[in-house]
Amino acid sequence: MATKFKNFINGKWVEPDSGKYFENINPASKTEVLGVFPRSESSDVEKAAQAAENAFEKWKEVPAPKRGEIILKAAQLLIEKKEELARIATREMGKILMETRGDVQEGIDTAIYMAGEGRRLFGQTTPSELRNKFAMTVRAPVGVVGIITPWNFPVAIPTWKIFPALICGNSIVFKPATDTPESAIRLVEILTEAGIPDGVINLIFGSGSDVGKAIITHPKINLISFTGSSETGRFIASECGKRLKKCALEMGGKNAQIIIDDADLDLAVDGALWGAFGTTGQRCTATSRLIVHKKALDDFSHKLLERTKKIIIGNGLDQDTQMGPLINEPQREKVHNYVGIGKNEDKAELLMGGEPHAEGKCSQGFFYKPTIFTNGNPGMRIAQEEIFGPVVLIMPVKDFDEAIKVINNTQYGLSSSIYTKDLNLAFKAVEKIQSGIVYVNSPTIGAESHLPFGGVKDTGNGHREAGVTAIDIFSEWKTVYIDYSGRLQKAQIDTE
Ligand code: NAD
Repeated sequence: MATKFKNFINGKWVEPDSGKYFENINPASKTEVLGVFPRSESSDVEKAAQAAENAFEKWKEVPAPKRGEIILKAAQLLIEKKEELARIATREMGKILMETRGDVQEGIDTAIYMAGEGRRLFGQTTPSELRNKFAMTVRAPVGVVGIITPWNFPVAIPTWKIFPALICGNSIVFKPATDTPESAIRLVEILTEAGIPDGVINLIFGSGSDVGKAIITHPKINLISFTGSSETGRFIASECGKRLKKCALEMGGKNAQIIIDDADLDLAVDGALWGAFGTTGQRCTATSRLIVHKKALDDFSHKLLERTKKIIIGNGLDQDTQMGPLINEPQREKVHNYVGIGKNEDKAELLMGGEPHAEGKCSQGFFYKPTIFTNGNPGMRIAQEEIFGPVVLIMPVKDFDEAIKVINNTQYGLSSSIYTKDLNLAFKAVEKIQSGIVYVNSPTIGAESHLPFGGVKDTGNGHREAGVTAIDIFSEWKTVYIDYSGRLQKAQIDTE
């Protein structure tokens, strides 16, 4: 009998008003039910928003360094429970243990960084244009924050939002993806054990169309921090726009790695394998296009194929596994559908993979073979649309200039990479590539928690998570003028 989990409102685990629940299953073994979780509705969100609004009044008064101490305690608990959390995340979303350990580590790094931010939260002091007048800025919390997250980084992504929100003095209504609910439960338990007061963090399970929509439209929730697809992000932006509500959106990607003919090809293949097939291609930063100089094409393709054939597919909890399953059956169907599109597209050639992997123990999960297409051109749908699976397209180019044109020929702009030994080309690429993150001689994957993370074009709406830029999302600037002249001074008018 699977464990029944509850929502968390005002410091208590409570049943959903509907009394209804959904099952969550293991994508590596679909008959394994991991737990049942509340199918909540707008009335549950209402209670959570009310609790968060009440708790905000006290939480914002707690000095930021004290809030930082609680977050540091959460970091220590995350360190102690790293292995347990990693195993839960692997069971829920399938990626291999090495990767879920990294996922939790990113949460630890973020907690440590944000705990320190409690003793910074820097504003500015600056001269006034008038005599005997002092000018400065301070940061104020935004209020109640709605946090909506995807399943592919079940620990890291929530922590990227929760820790900066908390250090700034906000309270939270948190809705995780329905595929990774237990990871969210464990995270909230850790926050509670660390000393986050009742009502400051509230957790509501349920679908995007019910719970997600109730969060984004709720009048007491002042800011939406969302990570997920561009389609959902567009909907959230329009709903927030109607209400003049602040929203920070982290969305899809169609990331590419350029390989110049002078590159170390073995290193470039290492990067391509990790970028394309890590997390079974289900990362916003996954490499889905390989833009290869014609002179390096044969060597690179041959090496990539040989290495890809050796990838061990299986349950992410098994020691030897190098690539786990896709998240669920609809996602596997979506990936397979794109493979069909690719096969029918002009000139694209399927080099390997292109079908589900259902051998042996894998017959019980949503596995898919690593898939490589070649002869791609930028007009193809598989070169333009986010597939979110282990599918990569090789696109030959004649020179650096064409590579830059191809890499920028996409609606997205999250992460890009170039492999070359030519320093001049590397710097030119950094300048010309249109994306939020550029890597030189390393793959499109590898963000660190103290640097800004986010993208341009349809990947984002102008914000950056992680590092100090996350603080800009979760706080409002307040500008303060203090006049100690004892008389009326008029800015822009009194010039002496
Ligand atoms: P998704 O957009 O389907 O869902 C994300 C979250 O939004 C889930 O919690 C979902 O329940 C909720 N949601 C869905 N519809 C909603 C609605 N109408 N109103 C409010 N909430 C709603 O995305 P997904 O399939 O969970 O994740 C994959 C996508 O996330 C990919 O496009 C990937 O690129 C993107 N992603 C982006 C980043 C980034 O930082 N840029 C990181 C990870 C994933």
